[in-house]
Amino acid sequence: MTSVHTSSGPVVAVVVAAGSGVRLGEGGPKALRTIGGRALVAHSVEALAAGGVDRIVVVGRARLADDFTRALADAPLPWTLVEGGEERQDSVANGLAEAERVAPAARHVLVHDAARPFVPATVVAAVLAALRDGATAVIPAVPVIDTIRVADPVPGEATVVDRSRLRAVQTPQGFDLATLVRAHHHVRSVGLAVTDDAMACEAIGERVVLVDGSRDSLKVTEPFDLLVAEAVWRGRRPAADPPAAHPSTDGTSTDDTSAIHPSDGGASTDGTQMMGRTSR
Ligand code: C5P
Repeated sequence: MTSVHTSSGPVVAVVVAAGSGVRLGEGGPKALRTIGGRALVAHSVEALAAGGVDRIVVVGRARLADDFTRALADAPLPWTLVEGGEERQDSVANGLAEAERVAPAARHVLVHDAARPFVPATVVAAVLAALRDGATAVIPAVPVIDTIRVADPVPGEATVVDRSRLRAVQTPQGFDLATLVRAHHHVRSVGLAVTDDAMACEAIGERVVLVDGSRDSLKVTEPFDLLVAEAVWRGRRPAADPPAAHPSTDGTSTDDTSAIHPSDGGASTDGTQMMGRTSR
C-alpha cells in the first residue's frame, strides 16, 4: 500500500459501522452485509487505504467483534474496533477518542460511513488534498439530479426548489482532528442533533469546503441499493475477468480497479487490544 505522508503526519479514518441496518431488511447488520463476498466495512477500509489513509478506527458493536475480525482479516491497514453509540454522532465521538489514542501524531481525520463501500480513491485523495491546503472541514458532494420539492404545510402540496444549487453530501468527510473533537464536544454539550460531522463543525463557526464526490459512492440503505452496489462492484472486477468498459452514473469510467485493490497489501503486524481481543 502506497500512502502519502506529509508534514501533517499520518491520516486516521473513523469508519462508522454501528448502525443496525433495519431499512436493509433481513440479513444482519449493514456493515457486515457482503458484496462480491466482502463485507461493506471491508470494501470501505480498502477504499480509504487506496486514497491515502494510514490507520483505521472501526466503530461497531462489541457483540459482533468476532464478525468484524473475520470481515477485516485481510485489511490493508492496521485497525481497531470500538463500541458504537446510540446515534451516529455518538459513534463518531467514540471513534474520535480512539483515533486520538491510536494516532496521537495525526493532524487530520476522515469520517466515513461503512455504508458507502465504493468511494473512489480519487475522492478520498481530493478530501485529503483540501485538508493539506489548509481547510479544517471538507465534504465531498454531488449535484442533485432529481427535481426536488419541499412539502408544504398544506397536505398534498409542495414547492419546487432550485436544484442547480443543491448538493447531496457524501463521506468521507475530512477534518482537522482537534477541530472535529471540539465540535463534537460542543454539539453534545448543547444537545444539538447532527446528521453529519460538517454540521457539527459549522455549529462552532468553521467553514466547510466542498470537493467533487462521485455517484459510485452510493450509500447502501435499502435492498435496492445492494443491487446497485453489486453492479458497481462488477464494473470494477480485476483484469482477469474484464467487464466491458462502461460509464458510471457520473459519466466517468468505472473499470479502473486500482482504486479499490491495494497492490501490495502493506499489512501491519501491530496488534491492539480492544474489546477483550487482539485485532490488527
Ligand atoms: O443510519 P445511517 O444510514 O444514516 O448511518 C450512516 C452510517 O452511520 C452507517 O455506516 C451506520 O453504520 C453508522 N451508524 C453508527 N452508529 C449509529 C448509527 C449509524 O455507526 N448509532
